[in-house]
Amino acid sequence: MLDAEIIAVGSELLTPGKLDTNSLFLTEQLNLLGVEVVKKSIVGDHRHRLAEAIRDALRSVSLVILTGGLGPTEDDVTRDAVASATSRPLVFDESIAASIAERFRRFNRVMAEINLRQAYLVEGAEILLNPRGTAPGQWLDHNGASILLLPGPPHELKPLFTEQCLPRLRQRLPPVSIRARMLRVAGMGESDLDALIAPVYTRYTNPSTTILAAAGEIHVHLRARCADEAEADALLDEVESQLAALLAERVYSRNGDSLEEVAGSLLLARNATLAVAESATGGLLAGRVTSVPGSSRYFRGGFLVYTDEMKTALLGVPASLIAEHSAVSEPVAAAMAERAAALTGATYALSVTGYAGPEGEPPGLFFIGVASPAGVEVRRLQLPGDRNRVRAFAAQMALDLLRRKLLAP
Ligand code: ATP
Repeated sequence: MLDAEIIAVGSELLTPGKLDTNSLFLTEQLNLLGVEVVKKSIVGDHRHRLAEAIRDALRSVSLVILTGGLGPTEDDVTRDAVASATSRPLVFDESIAASIAERFRRFNRVMAEINLRQAYLVEGAEILLNPRGTAPGQWLDHNGASILLLPGPPHELKPLFTEQCLPRLRQRLPPVSIRARMLRVAGMGESDLDALIAPVYTRYTNPSTTILAAAGEIHVHLRARCADEAEADALLDEVESQLAALLAERVYSRNGDSLEEVAGSLLLARNATLAVAESATGGLLAGRVTSVPGSSRYFRGGFLVYTDEMKTALLGVPASLIAEHSAVSEPVAAAMAERAAALTGATYALSVTGYAGPEGEPPGLFFIGVASPAGVEVRRLQLPGDRNRVRAFAAQMALDLLRRKLLAP
């Protein structure tokens, strides 16, 4: 498999105001061809540093892609740096000079002499025509490696790469099919998950496995690269089924569906309805439930009861219960869920009460309740992170609690 390195050239890309987006585009395109980007870097407009970076890249990869620095001014150093790194001279190309002159004529502008700097090719390079800009790109094959010099402006780079580089790369590379899957997992920490599934995924380099954690959920990404789609799918099936068996009910989705979509589908399938009673999440939970199109078929409504008084006035949680145990407690979470179910007639009701922080002690302490036909159940959680994170976490855990209740026989 071919490895590539991308070097984005331009001092402006080293300022806080400008992002290197070209390398993201190139990485995506290369991955689709089965080429792996093993390193990318940004080098300012500095001839020697850039030449050094190119020499370095040529020692480890067989495809080096440079973007930017092809303009006409003294700080456009890419051509010079490639010439220096490959010990090849720059040669003046009449056809490029003519097309630059023609471009200026077309726009009725006088061409400054300096623009002819763009008419130099690294000796041996092929021209990659760039009708959207003045400087053409260049493709140089050098000692078994390919070096691509591409323009910096994304609107020039993208079509040039797609139209002229992709066909050349496809010709040189064996056909490859890349297929991906994602398991979404809730109710488990990243290190526990890794300990559980590492014995399986470390046996495979193909598909590759990446584990990404978010608040209250983990995504396990599998990526297979094979000669054809069927082979890639078979490999994915093999690994995915083993991981899914180990993770069991902690996998809530294998097709990209969110937790609220999954819980909603389960409610629909059981002909059941839902209500919520929220304190610390302030509507986050109801917001997520109702973000799903068609949620009116199972969501009855909710109570946003932030103060103790509102818990009593709206839901009818006894004031004495709150006084005895505090609003952030197991009995209050249980009462909130039960009352929400009773008042709405919903089959299931979720409740959330907690200290989102930084005030309240201890921050991150939450109680989440679920009322169901089988009774009420409350989970105590000590959640890590700042206010936004623990609130998102709590809403996530509440949805997962509902999902598990709905799955229970
Ligand atoms: P030109 O031939 O038009 O002068 P160039 O190849 O010399 O182009 P640069 O002068 O390096 O390219 O960059 C031109 C502009 O393109 C930059 O100001 C920036 O807006 C954008 N650009 C350059 N490199 C990148 C990058 N890696 N990601 C996103 N934008 C970029």
